[in-house]
Formats: sequence, C-alpha cells, structure tokens
Amino acid sequence: MERKRIPVVERILSANDRLAANNRERLQRHGITTINIMSSPGAGKTTLLLATIRALGETCKIGVIEGDVASQVDADKIAQAGVPVVQINTGGGCHLDATMVQQALEALPLDEIQLLFIENVGNLICPAGFDLGQDYNVALLSVPEGHDKPYKYPSMFEFVDVVLVTKTDLMPYMDFELAEFRRLVQGLNPRAPVIPLSARTGEGMEAWLEWLKTAVKGK
Ligand code: MG
Ligand code: ZN
Repeated sequence: MERKRIPVVERILSANDRLAANNRERLQRHGITTINIMSSPGAGKTTLLLATIRALGETCKIGVIEGDVASQVDADKIAQAGVPVVQINTGGGCHLDATMVQQALEALPLDEIQLLFIENVGNLICPAGFDLGQDYNVALLSVPEGHDKPYKYPSMFEFVDVVLVTKTDLMPYMDFELAEFRRLVQGLNPRAPVIPLSARTGEGMEAWLEWLKTAVKGK
C-alpha cells in the first residue's frame, strides 16, 4: 500500500505574530538581546543557563524567563544564581506564545537587562512554530537523545541560529555519532553552527560563550 505523508502547516498564528512583533520592538527599545532556548525535557537547558550565568558573571546583565507546564523549580534555581527571573506556567500548554512572554516582560526590570534568555517548554515539536519576539533561536540536543533526532524533528533544527549538543561528558557511554549529527543538521540548516559542550565539565562552554558574545554585538 502506498504511504502518504500529510504536511500540517500550523498558521493560525497571525495574532501571535503581531504580539511577537510588539515584544520585539519593546525589547529592542531597551537594547536587550533575546535568545529563545528550545529542546526536549531534560536536555539541560536550565543547567546550561546556570553555567552561562556563572561564566558571564558581571560582564553582562542577564534576565531569564522560564517556561514550564507546572512548578517553579527552574526559576528558583535561576533566582539563586542572582539574576531576575519570571516563571511562566503554561498549565498544560506545550509551548510558550507571545502573550505569555508579553506578561513576563511586565514583571522584569527591563532597564537592568542586556541579555534575556527565554527557556521554552521542553518539547521538540511546536515551540519552533511560535514567534515570541526573540532575536535568536537555540536548539539543544543532549547526547542520550541520539544523533538521529533531526530526521524526526526537522522543524526544530531548520530555523535555529545555533545547535548545541549537550552532556558530551556522556559520549563514552552512548552511541552518539557527532559527525553524523553534524551532517544531518547541515543538511537542514547549513548556516547553524553545531557546538558540542558539557555544562557539567565546562568542555566546549568557551565556544558557546563566544557565539553569545558575537550574537549580542551583531544584533
Ligand atoms: Mg528547565
Ligand atoms: Zn505546543
């Protein structure tokens, strides 16, 4: 039997796009560079943020919006690191949208922030489809998830500005083929660099921090 694939184009989004444009304009007025971080649950988004906050220290004023279905455990961790943070609970929703981010911006001291991270809800599918007003998109894929994920979730890798392979300290225990992963990402998105790193050991963090500095300047 012939198998058919049905492309689903999610574009009931014009209202969201308008709100995202408002957010973007507001963030730009405050001179803030905004980075949307996406991955599946448990890929290490919060751990990466904590390591990034530690590494940048006083050189850059950071703010964070945490998106989760429930709880504020991640926001609590970020707050302990001493940066302003707002938790959004989507109450079951599997992605952030521009309205939620607009509300979070109300609660942040925008004049005191240069670099704003938005940690999206852990999900490799729909977060890529909703503009929030960000300048850059980052996708994380952790080593235990396997190098074949770009086959299954192409939209996550197609439009991002950089791809981070996290938890590289687990590489010796997993069958993750980095060269193959790079090949798959480059096939979908030739302009996105792939940076392998471990926030736990610090390996590769320097390349990520360099990318961030260029992103903040290049805006
Ligand atoms: Mg998290
Ligand atoms: Zn969703």
